[in-house]
Amino acid sequence: MSPRVQIDLESFAQNLRTIRERAAPAEHMLVVKDDAYGHGLEQIVRRAHREGVRWFGAFDVSTGVAVRRLLGDRVRIFSWMIGSPAELTDAADANLDIGVGDPDLLDEIIAAGFGARVHLKIDTGLHRNGIRPEEWEGALGVAANAQQRGRLRVEGVWTHIAEASDEDDDAARALFEQAIEHARRAGVHPRVRHLAASAAAFARAPFRYDLVRVGAFAYGIRSAHGPSDVELGLTPIATLIAEVTEIHPESVRVSIGALDGLPSTLAGLIDVTTPAGPRTLRQVGADNCIIDAWDGAELGDEVQVYGPAPARGVTDHAEAIGTIGEEIALRVSPLIPRTYR
Ligand SMILES: *Cc1c(COP(=O)(O)O)cnc(C)c1O
Repeated sequence: MSPRVQIDLESFAQNLRTIRERAAPAEHMLVVKDDAYGHGLEQIVRRAHREGVRWFGAFDVSTGVAVRRLLGDRVRIFSWMIGSPAELTDAADANLDIGVGDPDLLDEIIAAGFGARVHLKIDTGLHRNGIRPEEWEGALGVAANAQQRGRLRVEGVWTHIAEASDEDDDAARALFEQAIEHARRAGVHPRVRHLAASAAAFARAPFRYDLVRVGAFAYGIRSAHGPSDVELGLTPIATLIAEVTEIHPESVRVSIGALDGLPSTLAGLIDVTTPAGPRTLRQVGADNCIIDAWDGAELGDEVQVYGPAPARGVTDHAEAIGTIGEEIALRVSPLIPRTYR
């Protein structure tokens, strides 16, 4: 009676092909942070590698190290969250490409002197992490000098954008172009330039450069208030399934609740998909929820809380409560088994 997340690796492979065609000639870096957006790192990276993905975006170092263990030396792994000197050592040992978003980290890498491949990040307006435009030329000078001495190699220049308005994204891209031009003038010639995540990689050709860092769309998670799955040519790969545990005249109870990660605020706002079609989610309890009944319901019947059409997707849920699809996917407890087919 335990709920499960069923993951369709064929749909995943198809999404990867769609992304590759869309982004070409830029390469796809598959972003696998947060346990591959809750889909399970191991199965996801193994299948992606089989499908030809050769760049992985790991966010934190421990995820990067895990991908290296799973796939060996044949892939490039990009990690852009270095939390401590010990993590820097781990990143070096695992031969990760390191995203450098502040001048202090650049100094630490040069001092460590292990010849790391670094990708310098220019802050183009998000103000989260990234070398500020006024510090950029200074950082390039430091990096160029260190590169000549073999203490690092500047492999990439990159940034991250909000993908919330075309106007802001255009302004960010103008800054990015300038940053690349400054790198060229400083004698630093990065092999890869990367800026776009899912939405821009699909919608805006000039944003693709050499690599696109796509996570959400690979898992079939569309952007809230953006184009539909059909328009994007993508299929959600995860189906959250619960079972019927009690049948009443007006309602049935199913085996998933708030403690499993289903937001209780969804009550009354979304449909789940039963064998008889969509039914309204009425109440979310701690470990079960109540939905409208249907004729012929039986104990053990499976209900798709979210999934590919005709079920509703995680972003449909998200839009109902003002969040993003990733949050719905990531809230599902890691204790709920992921099954693969
Ligand atoms: C998460 C993340 C991505 C992937 O974004 P999606 O919208 O999931 O494709 C790309 N780049 C950075 C820096 C990220 O943190």
